[in-house]
Amino acid sequence: MEVKTSLLDNMIGVGDMVLLEPLTEDSFLENLKNRFDHNEIYTYIGSVVISLNPYRSLPIYTPEKVEEYRNRNFYELSPHIFALADEAYRSLRDQDKDQCILITGESGAGKTEASKLVMSYVAAVCGKGQEVNKVKEQLLQSNPVLEAFGNAKTVRNDNSSRFGKYMDIEFDFKGDPLGGVISNYLLEKSRVVKQPRGERNFHIFYQLLSGSSDDTLKKLKLDRDVGKYNYLSLDSAVVSGLDDAANFRTVRIVGFMEDEMQSVLELVAAVLKLGNIEFKPESRCNGIDESRVKDKNGRVDLLVGSVLERAFSYRTVEAKMEKVSTTLNVAQAYYARDALAKNLYSRLFSWLITRINGSIKVTKTRHKVMGVLDIYGFEIFEDNSFEQFIINYCNEKLQQIFIELTLREEQEEYIREGIEWTNIEYFNNAIICDLIENNKNGILAMLDEECLRPGTVTDETFLDKLNTVCAEHQHFESRLSKNSKFLTDHSLPHNCFRIQHYAGKVLYGVESFVDKNNDLLYRDLSQAMYKANHSLIKQLFPEGNPAKVNLKRPPTAGFQFKASVGTLMGNLQTKNPNYIRCIKPNDKKASHVFTESLVRHQLRYLGLMENVRVRRAGYAFRQPYEPCLERYKMLCKKTWPHWRGPAREGVEVLLTDLQVPAEEFSYGRSKIFIRNPRTLFFLEEKRKQC
Ligand code: ATP
Ligand code: MG
Repeated sequence: MEVKTSLLDNMIGVGDMVLLEPLTEDSFLENLKNRFDHNEIYTYIGSVVISLNPYRSLPIYTPEKVEEYRNRNFYELSPHIFALADEAYRSLRDQDKDQCILITGESGAGKTEASKLVMSYVAAVCGKGQEVNKVKEQLLQSNPVLEAFGNAKTVRNDNSSRFGKYMDIEFDFKGDPLGGVISNYLLEKSRVVKQPRGERNFHIFYQLLSGSSDDTLKKLKLDRDVGKYNYLSLDSAVVSGLDDAANFRTVRIVGFMEDEMQSVLELVAAVLKLGNIEFKPESRCNGIDESRVKDKNGRVDLLVGSVLERAFSYRTVEAKMEKVSTTLNVAQAYYARDALAKNLYSRLFSWLITRINGSIKVTKTRHKVMGVLDIYGFEIFEDNSFEQFIINYCNEKLQQIFIELTLREEQEEYIREGIEWTNIEYFNNAIICDLIENNKNGILAMLDEECLRPGTVTDETFLDKLNTVCAEHQHFESRLSKNSKFLTDHSLPHNCFRIQHYAGKVLYGVESFVDKNNDLLYRDLSQAMYKANHSLIKQLFPEGNPAKVNLKRPPTAGFQFKASVGTLMGNLQTKNPNYIRCIKPNDKKASHVFTESLVRHQLRYLGLMENVRVRRAGYAFRQPYEPCLERYKMLCKKTWPHWRGPAREGVEVLLTDLQVPAEEFSYGRSKIFIRNPRTLFFLEEKRKQC
């Protein structure tokens, strides 16, 4: 790492963890806490920014602060997210390098806030002018919309993003923004029909009920009372500090016409009404209970009632060109109703993103790109299911790319500077990625195989398969094989498997793995939706078109996620990475509270110690010759007060005179490389004594 001169002066604790001596988990924590207690929420690990959520507004994001950080070198001022944003933006504009900002951390750690801070910083420092301002406004306006439809109050965070988001902002050659593209990952659609205790459904439902006019509600045939809707939880309908009605007013969907907006709200209303449809059993003479819609008035007006009703009573199974109709019982009808609501909402969400992308699309020649990734961090809960498995897989991939890119950056610098490349030992998590994603016998492939297999498929048969295949491999292959990351031991609870992730061991319960991966909607339901008297609904269920019957199974959820993660990784690989690691200091959403055990956990899950280690490996510090000589020339009579020759020779004279052992440093083309932080502290100590 480059020596950040300012980081050695007037700093609370150590501004850059690379300079921490001795480096232990305890000293790392102590340093973070010390800084946090003094309102210093940002700390570096080299060029990585660690950000602690202050849970209160700090006066550190003002226009004056923007000016302060603008066009300054990363190491000149105290650690700040603006320094990272500035560095990324300038290297995009001046050095023609595509950038990506990777923001990770657990729920409530401050990722979304950080992504907005980066976006607003870039918006503040890039070009001005009417057209550019319009683009900026459009890009920034996408946030409230996505938050209304994709965020919800959870026990961890009152404004929790329930989807992963990646946004490419595209610039012209002057560094002015032209537009962008947003990608979304894995919306938590189960929330549409059921929320854990103390949590809410997506904000938009509450916003619509409390923020729209009586007239709008009447048109949508909705009641303002949250309590009237089965899909809305009552126990936390009102969240302190969250003004649904005011937020609703900011949901102006970029470039939308009034009737388009109306259409979107009609769908939101349709989901609420779907949730109120109830079923009763009707006994048939063959002794089977068939489901019937209870109250005909409870129909969802936008949909063709009779077709939909039929789809809640019967299901057509197509086998070998033959169509067989089977009946649904009440439980199956509720299942079908919820599946439809989840599908309707998640398709609406994807459609919104496509629609926003249409409005912010770049039509001119783009020059450079800055990608911002705000995605769920590693998750270990009491109960971990398919969602955690998928999220943790994504984090494994991000960790892999982090190691790869950091090492690549190191290597490139060594080559540029003509310094011999020394191999860095690090934990390569490729074997865990392979265990999950291998096309042949990876866990996702096995799950897909099981989902496609004819016959009775259950979560248990999937687990059996997993245990057999992985245990077999474990038996035959060496301990270092990928399967040593699939942990089988007899202490495992029923219906679970365990994986040794880079961030720790996680126990996954297989319940619903098959169902969630299948993610199937009965064809009768998609056909009913296609018949709806509503062009947007029709558009969202193209497979319901009888003219386009496609017997091919749609790709599974796991398959789709793997593909989109693959695309994302490919995209990130081509860019220069900038990391923001967000940490939640306590789980009370309280300011001034630093819960050590909680932070210690995150430090491990984020792989921060490994992060420092990789940054310190080889040469911990490097600095161009001029500033190095400037700072330490007072330590040697030959260089003080003026050194007349080249700076490099001055540094050489200085270090020789101070008898710093030769193996402690190397001379690069433009920089001095110092192996150990202790050497730096030795120089600093000497400096203080002068
Ligand atoms: P999730 O994964 O649940 O989406 P997240 O990491 O995106 O969580 P945020 O929504 O960004 O978390 O932050 C949670 C809350 O913490 C914010 O609503 C805000 O109140 C507070 N917060 C986060 N960062 C800051 C900050 N830099 N300054 C002040 N408050 C902050
Ligand atoms: Mg978020």
